[in-house]
Amino acid sequence: MENMKIALVTGAIGGIGTEICRQLVKDGYKVLATHRPGKEDVAKQWLEDESFDSIKLNLLSLDVTDSISCGETLKQVMQDYGTIDVLVNNAGITRDSAFKRMTFDKWNDVINTNLNSLFNVTQPVFNPMCEKGSGRIINISSINGLKGQFGQANYAAAKAGMIGFSKSLALESARSGVTVNVIAPGYTATPMVNVLKDEILDSIKAQIPLRRLATPQEIAKAVSYLASDDAAYITGETLNINGGQYMH
Ligand code: NDP
Repeated sequence: MENMKIALVTGAIGGIGTEICRQLVKDGYKVLATHRPGKEDVAKQWLEDESFDSIKLNLLSLDVTDSISCGETLKQVMQDYGTIDVLVNNAGITRDSAFKRMTFDKWNDVINTNLNSLFNVTQPVFNPMCEKGSGRIINISSINGLKGQFGQANYAAAKAGMIGFSKSLALESARSGVTVNVIAPGYTATPMVNVLKDEILDSIKAQIPLRRLATPQEIAKAVSYLASDDAAYITGETLNINGGQYMH
């Protein structure tokens, strides 16, 4: 157990986060699965429902929008577990609205959760990773950060920002053996998307050449690959997983 590599996944108890955790546990990592403060009971229930082995997966309370508590919590994590080997910045929210009606709160909440979180969570683990001389940072963006989406100026701005951030960090960390990459999923069958009405889901699928949503497992498999030694020569890249809906 002592030699297990450590992976930290934010937004772990969500649809995609759950499958990323499951995959990384399968890959042999000890996974630190983060959830929002105040959601301890939900997280414990999730641990039981998903039958995670609590030796291989530990829960960690982390509000990715709070830079001070991220700094303190992650410093403690590194004292307890040592350096993080794989960081998956997966937590995210949407607060959709046409821009002419978009409030500052909706703008700010989305930028804080999807983009500022990259600073808050990555900064404390970045230097130790570089000093160790190895590490993987994988940021979960979105197809809509590449192509834009009506009603998602806030979300698209944040998700596009993740890509510029990742390319820059890839340059800064390359000589230290740390890779930084992005996964940009298209519509993925998580509870968030599955609640859409059938006719809306049908119209979404009609725009996807493969005519179906991604599964969360398909996103998790890509995380697994980018985290692996096989992906050592890939950095600053954005991997699109969108069934052909957007090619660039
Ligand atoms: P979910 O809503 O199921 O999961 C998102 C997770 O992020 C939740 O666990 C949520 O916690 C957590 N989270 C939100 N705000 C915070 C915060 N302030 N601090 C800590 N955790 C927080 O969504 P998905 O699994 O579908 O999405 C995962 C990622 O994939 C997101 O970044 C999303 O933008 C991206 N994505 C999703 C797509 C899809 O079609 N599903 C498509 C493209 C990208 P809580 O439950 O407490 O709110």
